[in-house]
Amino acid sequence: MQPLDESWQYRWGDSPVLADGTPAWLFEDAPDQWHDIGFPSNPPGRDGRDYAWFRVTLPEGNWFHPVLYVYSVDIIVQVWFRGERLYQYGTFEGEGRGAFEGWPWHEIQLPDDYEGETLYFRVFSDYTDIGLWGEVAITEPPDLTLYILSQSAEDLIVSALSALIAGLALVFACIQRGQKSLATVALFSSLVAVMLLAESQASLLLLYRPLFWDYLAAASYYLIPVALTLLLAQWLGKQRSGLIRGLMWFHLAYAVGAVVGALGGLVALSSTFPVFDAVLVVSLLLIAMVAVRQFSGLYREQQILLLACGGFVALLILDMAVAHGFLPWGRVPVSWGALGFSLAVIGISVWHFGRTQRALHQLTARLEQKVRERTARAEALAAREVARGRLLALESKKSQKFADVIAALQDCAGIEEAFEGLLRAMPELYLPIAGGFYRRGQNGRYECQTQWGEARAGAFPLALGQGLSGITETVLPVRSDELPLQLYFFLRVESGHSGPEPEGVLALERPELPDELKDYGSLRVIGWVHQSVEKIGITLSGLALRAELQKFSYEDSLTGLKNRRHFDELFRHEREVSVRSERSLSLLIFDIDHFKRFNDCHGHEAGDQALRRVGKLLGACFRGSDTVCRYGGEEFAVLMPGASLEEARYRAEQLRGAIAAERIEHRGEHLGYLTISAGIACWPENCPAFEGLFRAADMALYEAKEAGRNRVVAATP
Ligand code: GH3
Ligand code: MG
Ligand code: MG
Repeated sequence: MQPLDESWQYRWGDSPVLADGTPAWLFEDAPDQWHDIGFPSNPPGRDGRDYAWFRVTLPEGNWFHPVLYVYSVDIIVQVWFRGERLYQYGTFEGEGRGAFEGWPWHEIQLPDDYEGETLYFRVFSDYTDIGLWGEVAITEPPDLTLYILSQSAEDLIVSALSALIAGLALVFACIQRGQKSLATVALFSSLVAVMLLAESQASLLLLYRPLFWDYLAAASYYLIPVALTLLLAQWLGKQRSGLIRGLMWFHLAYAVGAVVGALGGLVALSSTFPVFDAVLVVSLLLIAMVAVRQFSGLYREQQILLLACGGFVALLILDMAVAHGFLPWGRVPVSWGALGFSLAVIGISVWHFGRTQRALHQLTARLEQKVRERTARAEALAAREVARGRLLALESKKSQKFADVIAALQDCAGIEEAFEGLLRAMPELYLPIAGGFYRRGQNGRYECQTQWGEARAGAFPLALGQGLSGITETVLPVRSDELPLQLYFFLRVESGHSGPEPEGVLALERPELPDELKDYGSLRVIGWVHQSVEKIGITLSGLALRAELQKFSYEDSLTGLKNRRHFDELFRHEREVSVRSERSLSLLIFDIDHFKRFNDCHGHEAGDQALRRVGKLLGACFRGSDTVCRYGGEEFAVLMPGASLEEARYRAEQLRGAIAAERIEHRGEHLGYLTISAGIACWPENCPAFEGLFRAADMALYEAKEAGRNRVVAATP
């Protein structure tokens, strides 16, 4: 390439035309009319003129097929050489004017012997710029093609990449429904792709339609701010969206208006560029203001995108400045800015997508974990319900059994009988919990009465032989994790002579329940056992009390002899037996003589003591089959089944003698002696009618008293 950057001259205006139609300026030298210029573009002092001429003296060169390469021309051009038109782009009408026909690059064939000759350029431009533009150089056609291709390579590559990005973004936008910003990115990237392709010099190699490419470039270029404002509006949300949206609609309207207006011949397409550029600068400034103000409130990725966008916009403005001659000519890598921005958007979208996928993945994992936990919990609950059901069934069975046991205990005549039944029932009552029952003996030691179940290692044997030292009673409430291996429940039976020590101890192993019941099941079981032991205690206490009461109701508390009630019942009973078995029945009734006097002399307490002594003597004087009763006061009765009158008299005399011989002492003081008077009667010997037996004996006693006391009198029939 041989750049043509020297010996350029310009001349404002258009040349008059000679008769054959060639411009007169080609033939007159007029050096004072031509002015030097560094590069044939925008000469000074345009002053509204639409015509300019440029000329250059072609330098020495060594070319095989020399061609002149011009980057671009504003707007239409004729090239003259040696008085002949060498090249023309655009249509020059009668006045020498012409319409814009695009901004292609030009390849102008030069004759072989061009060196040293002058080349003239007739230019018409109603555009802001006038003249040649960019580069002017001499080269060979193949080199030029290669040069064009190499110069366009970047744009073409970026265009292809942008197209790819646009496609990908579109696909992603379709997959992720509602991803508006991806759709906008697709729009932006496709606009960039089209713009770069249309603006690239190589596009003409593809299709030589300069105006078509320029329309395409204009449309895509004018729509880029639409895509930008759309993106911004989506990122910024509601903030300042009014202004952004307004700009978007304005640019859309401008793009459509400019292209349609140019197509309709209302305006020249070229003239829409400077206006657009001016408007774009203002728009970009406004957008930048909004963006800068909102910057800190944006997400990190939006900030990165905004910065990338800013880079692209800066390049765009630089390019504009070059295009309008504010900066010297140079290729501004706008395409790379656009690519960088698209890549940033795509990168962040992909990163976003990845993050969303990861979050989705985590969410799924968490959900699965939750489902697993719930299922496990539900299963545990179900297992617990089953176990609980089993426990309840067992409990109900045991409660039934227990009710039976209690009923049986209540029917028992005495506490011993009750204990027998209880010990028999205990294994069934408490199994499957292994254990044993220990009862307090006379010596205060606790002896094992019964054991059941197979004790786990270490749980048995229970060492209660030594008493209760070292044994802790299991009291409620306990916590399930505090339960010792051995549990002791004290059976307390309240009675008239019960001490603080429990009557028995129920020793049980700690119940082993299934895991799902551990927390409350063992406590429930223990509560039940505790209650059962308590209930047994109450039942046994009732029984003991009853026995005691019964004893009290038939016994005389002072002497320990049977009382009158017992005597009466027994008398009735003995009568039946005696009548049925025809066995004699003797009755002895005696009364202490002058006991009132004794009482008066020695006091009531001494009287009681005397009565107790008499009671003792009575026990010694009569057989086990005889029943001795204190009938009331100092009156006693002895029922002697099977005894004849003689035998009865004998015993009565014996007793009388024994009492008379008994020294009554009280608190170490001798109180003298007592005598008794007794009446005896025997059925049927001296009392044929059984009903009269008691009265007969009583009468005999009376007689004995009458007869002077201290004697035995037999009843007279
Ligand atoms: P008699 O020889 O006629 O039987 O004369 P007596 O004084 O024994 O007869 P009486 O029936 O008049 O008196 C009975 C006395 O017995 C009256 C009462 O003071 C005494 N007595 C009755 N029961 C008790 C008792 O439980 N303890 C004491 N210390 N005295 C009693
Ligand atoms: Mg009396
Ligand atoms: Mg008396």
